[in-house]
Amino acid sequence: MTPLFKSAHAAVKFAVNCGNESHIGRSTVSKLADPPKGADTGLVGLDGVGQAAMVLSMIRSSMDRRQEACLVARCSVHKLSCSCGAACCSRSRPNWTWFEAINFLSMEAKLAIEEDRKPGTRGIQDNPAIRQALIAKYFGERVRISELAKACDITDSTVTNHNSKITKMLKKSEGEAWSLIEERLRDAFLIF
Ligand SMILES: [Zn+2]
Repeated sequence: MTPLFKSAHAAVKFAVNCGNESHIGRSTVSKLADPPKGADTGLVGLDGVGQAAMVLSMIRSSMDRRQEACLVARCSVHKLSCSCGAACCSRSRPNWTWFEAINFLSMEAKLAIEEDRKPGTRGIQDNPAIRQALIAKYFGERVRISELAKACDITDSTVTNHNSKITKMLKKSEGEAWSLIEERLRDAFLIF
């Protein structure tokens, strides 16, 4: 049987963006699915929504919420197109699915930074705006360390310090998440 998806990344990308279908258009969703050449057009008896639901349930049942949020943050689009027609409209709006994953990871980063603090020391000062921006950066938003430091009125080295702790946490969780979902998708013959 030919697998439905070329890679775990293609499967997760398809699944987490499937609900956006009406906004980004069916053809975009088909492209996101990115089936290998010669693949069937889908699983027997399952439409695209069903396939997406299946991949999502595999994600939810095989990992913790931090790992799940890493996959959503990595694979969901950051913005959706907007056709409200208002003169002030930038023709795009935030994708709350992506935004919520970033928010959740920002709370997780706070916990990780606290755990990392050596007893008897102050550790690094918590700053929600920096946490959020650095997580968005890790997942592909264009954020410059120096610009962030300037905007938050702190030193570059404080931002760099936050960045190394946050990146360490995200790399670990994201790596685990990809291993877990790859195993599930392979077991279900959705990827090779
Ligand atoms: Zn609009």
